[in-house]
Amino acid sequence: MAAKGSEPIETRLFINNEFRESSSKKTFDVVYPYTQEVIAQVHEADVNDVNDAVAAARAAFPAWRDLGVDGRGAYLRKVSELFIDANDELARLETLCTGRPISQFIDAKLSSDTWRSFADAGWNVQGTASTHTPGLLSLTVKEPYGVAAMIIPWNFPLIMFSMKMAAALAAGNTVVLKSSEKAPLTSIAAAKLIQKAGFPPGVVNIIAGHGNPTGAALAEHMDVRCISFTGSSLTGQKIQAAAAKSNMKHVHTELGGKSPAVVFEDADLESAAAQTQFSIRFNSGQVCVANSRIYVQESVAEKFKALFREQFEQYALGDPLDPATQQGPQIDVLQYKRVQEYLGVGEKDGELTVGGDAKDGYFVKPTIFEKVPEDSRVMREEIFGPVVAINTFKTEEEAIQKANDTEFGLYASVFTKDLDRAIRLSKALEAGTVGVNCTSPTNAKDAAFGGYKMSGTGREGLLYSIDNFVQTKSIIIKAAGNSAGLF
Ligand code: NAD
Repeated sequence: MAAKGSEPIETRLFINNEFRESSSKKTFDVVYPYTQEVIAQVHEADVNDVNDAVAAARAAFPAWRDLGVDGRGAYLRKVSELFIDANDELARLETLCTGRPISQFIDAKLSSDTWRSFADAGWNVQGTASTHTPGLLSLTVKEPYGVAAMIIPWNFPLIMFSMKMAAALAAGNTVVLKSSEKAPLTSIAAAKLIQKAGFPPGVVNIIAGHGNPTGAALAEHMDVRCISFTGSSLTGQKIQAAAAKSNMKHVHTELGGKSPAVVFEDADLESAAAQTQFSIRFNSGQVCVANSRIYVQESVAEKFKALFREQFEQYALGDPLDPATQQGPQIDVLQYKRVQEYLGVGEKDGELTVGGDAKDGYFVKPTIFEKVPEDSRVMREEIFGPVVAINTFKTEEEAIQKANDTEFGLYASVFTKDLDRAIRLSKALEAGTVGVNCTSPTNAKDAAFGGYKMSGTGREGLLYSIDNFVQTKSIIIKAAGNSAGLF
């Protein structure tokens, strides 16, 4: 099937280095959210296909592990180059699936950087050595798990694909990745790059399908030894449960958020307003770290809100394939209806002061609610739309209490020029990342990314992702003739 006058879109599963149809021949539709046209019918992996993919990965594991860091790194370096060559195709496919404006597509470049970084990163996977116990040399080494599964969401699929897969492969695992049923096309296109790079058969397997049956079959598979998941907290709980009920595979999760931004009266209000409004507007608010709750000190609230609105209301809604478009629609009818529901809750519980439903396809205007009670669903649940609640506070204690009054803990930010206060808030805010005078999506490549509380377990990033894909083994060596050790 071809879309928008380009080369045919690959829609099959990639198992053991071959593209093949699903064993059931079942497919699902992928829809361009702007026109609501079906752009591809993608093969859905059923349990048999999942079994085949895992079996291929399992068979390929010993040789891949034994190839060593340089041997594996050569393949990763090649993929890094191919991502740059494929930029335009990947940009078009990601836009068609997600509706994110094509002008914001930097994901192939970021992916290329990630693959290049992990090509050498295996050398840093090191253990310890000790002679502290008389008569013994004890070592720890880090080893891959074997078959690593990964399940990714639809909002930044290519970035998730690369961060998980490059790290798992660098550590010596073989992989089976399931893409999101809403945005599977760049994962399949990346499978073509994997094939072109000449990986040994079975090292990388890429399948598509819904949470049920495909994702669930991976999560409960007895030959999958670790699973890395990015998606909602609800699905994260299901995957943890499936892992516990099957083989207790190692589970790494990157989950949802309800990120607060706290703006004090001494802050650079222009910068705070510019950054916070972008954070919740970017990708139509479909970003795990988006600052969906803003707390501004009462004394500067009116000034801050005026600055915020000035930029928040200037956006160009339109066709995401048009380079002039700044904001696309929500990804699909389900997500649009979900946001619509929260718009209703917000209007009932608080005051709608800007935006609302665009009443045009799946578009939602950048929306502000004010005076929303802290126990409203708008304040407590992840909306995943361009919808922000701006509330006020009087004291620092009150701001901290409100910011932390959530089950999520992904990213929190504080805007202040007072260094002491910045340090106090950095310690007090319960989140995996705290931005000081900056907010999401600002991040550093070598920072640890991940959640406190129900926002996840484990960390990702150039220095951290590999930790999710290795286990620690101790090797105890006893010198002859020594009575050594604890027993
Ligand atoms: P989702 O949880 O609905 O789906 C994520 C993936 O899980 C999809 O591939 C889906 O098919 C699969 N899945 C669903 N049910 C499953 C099951 N029972 N077993 C196995 N797999 C299953 O999430 P989504 O709507 O695709 O993505 C949005 C969510 O992802 C938001 O909550 C967002 O905050 C979160 N997210 C988090 C991060 C992060 O790094 N913390 C990044 C991006 C997105």
